[in-house]
Parts: sequence; C-alpha cells; structure tokens
Amino acid sequence: MSLDPILERLNAAQRAAVTAPLGPVLVLAGAGSGKTRVLTHRIAWLIQAEGVSPHAILAVTFTNKAAGEMRARVESLLGMPPGVLWIGTFHGIAHRLLRRHWHEAGLVESFQIIDSEDQQRLIKKLIKAQQLDETRWVPREVQWFINSNKDEGRRSKHLKAGNDPIRAQMIRLYALYEDACARSGVVDFGELLLRAFEVWRDQPALLEHYRQRFRHVLVDEFQDTNTIQYAWLKLLAGADGCPFVVGDDDQSVYRFRGARVENLQQFGRDFPAVKLFRLEQNYRSTGAILAAANGLIANNAGRLGKTLWTSGEQGEPIRLYAAFNERDEAEFVCQRIRDHVAHGGLHRDVAVLYRSNAQSRVFEEIFLAARMPYRVYGGLRFFERAEIKDALAYLRLIANRRDDASFERVVNLPTRGIGAKSLETIRAAARDAACPLWAAARACLGDALGPKASEALRGFLELIERLADEVKGLALHEQVDRMLTVSGLIEFHKRDKADRGEARVENLEELVSAARGFNADALETDLPPLEAFLAHVTLESGEGQADAWEDCVQMMTLHTAKGLEFPIVFLCGMEDGLFPHQRSIGDLDGLEEERRLCYVGMTRAMKQLYLTYAEQRRLHGIDSYSQPSRFIKEAPEELIEEIRPRLQVSRPVASGRFAREPSHEAVPVRRALSASRSLRSEPPPMPGMRLGARVRHGKFGEGVILNLEGSGPQARVQVNFERQGTKWLVMQYANLEPL
Ligand code: ATP
Ligand code: MG
Repeated sequence: MSLDPILERLNAAQRAAVTAPLGPVLVLAGAGSGKTRVLTHRIAWLIQAEGVSPHAILAVTFTNKAAGEMRARVESLLGMPPGVLWIGTFHGIAHRLLRRHWHEAGLVESFQIIDSEDQQRLIKKLIKAQQLDETRWVPREVQWFINSNKDEGRRSKHLKAGNDPIRAQMIRLYALYEDACARSGVVDFGELLLRAFEVWRDQPALLEHYRQRFRHVLVDEFQDTNTIQYAWLKLLAGADGCPFVVGDDDQSVYRFRGARVENLQQFGRDFPAVKLFRLEQNYRSTGAILAAANGLIANNAGRLGKTLWTSGEQGEPIRLYAAFNERDEAEFVCQRIRDHVAHGGLHRDVAVLYRSNAQSRVFEEIFLAARMPYRVYGGLRFFERAEIKDALAYLRLIANRRDDASFERVVNLPTRGIGAKSLETIRAAARDAACPLWAAARACLGDALGPKASEALRGFLELIERLADEVKGLALHEQVDRMLTVSGLIEFHKRDKADRGEARVENLEELVSAARGFNADALETDLPPLEAFLAHVTLESGEGQADAWEDCVQMMTLHTAKGLEFPIVFLCGMEDGLFPHQRSIGDLDGLEEERRLCYVGMTRAMKQLYLTYAEQRRLHGIDSYSQPSRFIKEAPEELIEEIRPRLQVSRPVASGRFAREPSHEAVPVRRALSASRSLRSEPPPMPGMRLGARVRHGKFGEGVILNLEGSGPQARVQVNFERQGTKWLVMQYANLEPL
C-alpha cells in the first residue's frame, strides 16, 4: 500500500518526526505548527510502514472530543477503521484499565465514578460527622488538599504532620475520605489516575503484560501532564518502550491542577535515547496574529525557546475594543459576528473566549436577545443539573447498592417520610458497622427506627430492588424510562407548579433520549449498558453536548480552547484583575501561567483576532473599574488597531431598548487605551420579543418570555403562561403579540 497519503502535506521537519526510527521521541514545538497532526500521522505510519498492530498502540489526548477527532483522522489516513487501537484521555484510559482489573486494583466490580461536586459533598459530610467547624475546615480546601496529594501520588498514609495540628487534621480527613470512598465503592477523578498507577506498580505481572502489549504510547499536550500521569507513562514505557510525546512549554496552563511543565525536560533525562524534533512553521495563523502572540510570550522567562514563523499572509491587524461595560462588550462582539454572517460567514467560524465561566452569562443574554445561535462548552452542563443528578443517583443505586452518595441523594426524594433523624440513625449504624448505608438501612428496619419511618424506608429499599429486577434485560433507554416512572421522579416534578417543574420533566425526558443515543461500544469496555452509560456520563459530561457541526458561535473558557482553532477569535475581558487573574498578579509564576493562557488564546485564531475589555464591569454582583490587561501592552503596538465607537450615539431610554443601530469605526489610533463613549444597544430582531417581555398567545393567554433560542424559521421561544404554565413555541407559528 502506498505511504503517500500519510506523508504528503507534511513539511520536512514534520515528516522527519513522523518517520523517526522506533524509540523515544519528543516533538517540542509552538502553537499551530502541526504537533497534533504529526501525532496522528505517526499512528498511521506505525501501522502502515512499521507494520505495528493497532492493538499495540495507545494514544492519549487531552479531551474526549480530541480523541474522537484523532480516531477519525487516523481512519481517513488509513482508509479503514483502526479497530482495536486505544485512544482516550488519561482519565478515560485509567477507567478502562480499572474496569478490567478492578479486582487487582482493590475495587468493587460495580465501582462508580464521582465528579468533583459529589466529592465535595462527601467531604462536607465527613467534616460534619467529625463535628468540625466548616468555616475553619472549608470543604473546598480539604478537597484541594486531597486532590493535590493524589496528583502527586501520595495517599494519606504517606503524609506526615510533624508538629502541625492543622495538617494532622487534614491528613485525618483524607484518611476518612479514603475509607468512605472504599465503603461506597466510588472513585473520584484523581483516584482513577492514582489507582491505575498503583495497580501496575504493585502487580509486576500485569505491568509486564501491558508493556508487551502497548509498545507504542503517544501523548498529545504533554506539557500538561502531572506527576502521577507522567509516572504512569514511565512505568508503561519501561526502559525500552517507544513513547512519542508532543508538547509546547509555552502552552502549559494546568499548573493549578498539578501539571508539571518540567516533565518536558525530565523526559529527556528519563529516556536518554530520545530524539528531539522541533517544528517551526506555523500553519494556522496570519503573520500579524503570530507576531502578536510571539511578542506577548517573549515576556516570560525560562522558556525552552522556540521560533515560529509563517509563510502565510500578514493579514489584518489585531483589533482592540474598549467597551464601556460588559454589556457593551457583548453587544460589540454580537454586532461583529452579525457582520461576519451577513457577509456569508458561518457562526461556527467564531469563538468567544474568556477567562472564567461566569463571563459567559452576559454574552448569552445578548446573544439570546439577538437570536444568535451559540453553544457554551463547560459551565452548567446537562448532566450536572439537579434533576438529572437525581435520576442518575437512582440508576447508580440500581447498579451498585453500596453507593452511599446516591443513597443519600434519593432516599427521601420524592419525599416519602424518611426524615433527617431517621437518616442520622442509619448513618450512625453504618459508621458503627463500617458498612454501606444500604446495609445499615436494612439492619435499622423495625427496631432502630419508628414504625412509620421503618415502613417508608422498607418501601424505598423494595422499590430499588424491584426496579433493579424489572430493568434487567431491557434496552438502556427503557431502563431509564422505567426508573423515571417507577421512582416517582417524573410525577414529583409534574406536581411542582413553579416554572421549573416542566423544564425539569423535559430534561428528564432528554435523559431517555441520551440513553437511546448512547453507544456502549464507544467506551470499549465489557460493561453492561447501564454501567457503561453511568461511566460515560461522569467522564464526559459537558463534552459533545454541542454537535460540532451545528452552526453556532462557540463559547468557552481559554482552558477549554486548548488545541482548537477558529477563523475568528474574540478574547474578551482583557482587564487586569480578570485576566491576568487577581490571584496571579503578585505571583511571578502565576503571572507567567496567565500569560501562557493568553498565548493559547491568541494562537487559536486563524484569520482575525479581537481583544476586548470593559472599563467598568459587574461580575459576581460587584462593580469594578479596571485597567486594560497588561497583556495588551505586551503585544507589539504596531500590530494593533483600536476600534472606537462613533461618538454621537444615542442615550439609553428607560425601557432598556435603544433608538438606533450601533456602529463602530476603526480609527488608526495606537494605544489610546481610553476613549469617551456612551451606552449603545440595539432592538431585538423581532420587536417586543426579548427576555422578560410580556406577550399574549391566542390560546394560552398572557405570559412572560423566559428563553429565546435559535434563529430564522426555527427560532423557539419559551413562555411562562399565567394559566397554562411554561411552554416552548416555535416563533413562526406562535403569533405572539407583545404587550
Ligand atoms: P496546538 O499547539 O494549538 O495544539 P498543533 O501544533 O497541534 O497546535 P495542529 O493543530 O496539528 O497544530 O495544526 C495546526 C493547523 O495547521 C491545522 O489546521 C493543521 O491541519 C495545519 N497544518 C499542520 N501542518 C500542515 C502542513 N504541513 N500543511 C498544511 N497544513 C498544515
Ligand atoms: Mg495540538
């Protein structure tokens, strides 16, 4: 078979890396130079030119989305599916291993993964049970203590308190937490990695098996590996493995989660035979964007040093917009996207990037009002909504009765008369017998609880047993559907007359659709469908919520944007205190990490890059007046063009709607980082159709608009009608009349 499809469209340096002789390889190169491309092509090369079996290849990417894309790319290069090849995130792969070797890893077969919110709740409970003051022993801090130790490979038994009583208490809480997890049969994200490491370290035969099997390990975004991930990798590669890692020290942005950019240098020391490749040509961005990003990152000290150039055009200057406030900023972005679409562009060409999740809200509001389709990656995700978590807790309990967190969540939901006191009795019994709540609850029936509580509890236990029995053999979505009905959850939310009730029922129904669409094979374990689905939900919640091919504006934090590229990028909230973050300003390492994050953001842009900041911003309910981000001044001045609004704009009127379309013009002003301006906005696309507006419907009567979604003939509107409750309607047919 010809190797041409693999090697064509690679430059000489890329080709050298792709075809390097078998052995350890490090590709160290800047943004957009084709590292991910090289890694993908290397996989195809190994299979086709080196005759390596796909069975022997393990590829680690940073997100599940990236893993999916990589699989598709390898498939198109090979012209056939790569079959048994393992591609996934560190967490996904660790999970897969632990499912296979739960016994060796000291886990229960039906172990469940808990996300960080569940973890925090569990820790909170432990703190309470110890009768510690929660204001002193802040659950989030205890969680951080536990997770950062796990990331470093340390269990509670490895830690020494010395003469430090605070540390001694932290260590005790860590130990209690480990016990509680073991009792409930749950593992958190950090535990997945640590266990996967330990099971190999402690079982030489198992490690040998995997060393023989995965002779080829490839890692993308290597600069963001933490201690335990790297230790795991090193174990697997052994002395004569062929790890192939690609990374960029300038894009290391997960220090706060224990990432160690030093691993790049460590790799060279641990694998002395390493072949180093550097890629210097950037294929992604225009000359102006690249020069601005290079200028910025040059302010960091202690870099490994790389050159990046492009043969592409210089392109348009970087545009800078100083907004009056955060709404003005969002409106400016919205208007620019409209212009782009009006000129035949697509919404999905555009990414709006920000430092913190909370910044998305104002953009969402403005985009909704403008009926601009968008998707937020991250933030409150479908699987994180309360009603969905309740339903998942039922499913988890059906799969694993030892899951204490799930037991607590639903034992009295819907309310069935199991009060706080009964629950406390069950907890105490579980503590005394060191057993799961489920078993303790059984033991408490009759004697320990009053007759009424006993009856209610018996009902609950029987309900779960009956459900577990009934759903056996049903298709996954039927299992979910049955659970929703039998548990009473649907009924419970239907009875809830507040606005949210119906939306919650809709979300629960959406969960049935999610189950129907779920492909258990994607997880590539032998788990039964329900367990596979639960694992998938926890591992991948948030990702893939948006169909990448739907035409909508892409909104995400800078961290989430790593590795991606977009024709047009807006970097918003470029203010000192917000970006760089207040916490990092006084700390040199922290500031450098923020600068790398800014570099990541800028280098996502292919054709156009906008930087925006607000002179006044309300965030978390507090107004602040900030200086423009120092990062703006660090990019070469001549590359930046400031956009100023025309000055004679109208004043806002009381209704919150405004008289004229905004207009902005570019002025060749350099570095005049302040300008007088006034508030601007624009009318929503259909008069009167905006959030909060009152409308009348021929059949349903009067109501208030809660939500607007989509555009064109598909635009949908959610209205809370006074008599009929909340409904979604298609704008085109609804004939709503503004009041
Ligand atoms: P990042 O550091 O942001 O992860 P990267 O180094 O992984 O970037 P890629 O995403 O692999 O870079 O490549 C950047 C863009 O350049 C992609 O659109 C890719 O298809 C394109 N590209 C890479 N190499 C070539 C090449 N030799 N010819 C044409 N296009 C290329
Ligand atoms: Mg990449």
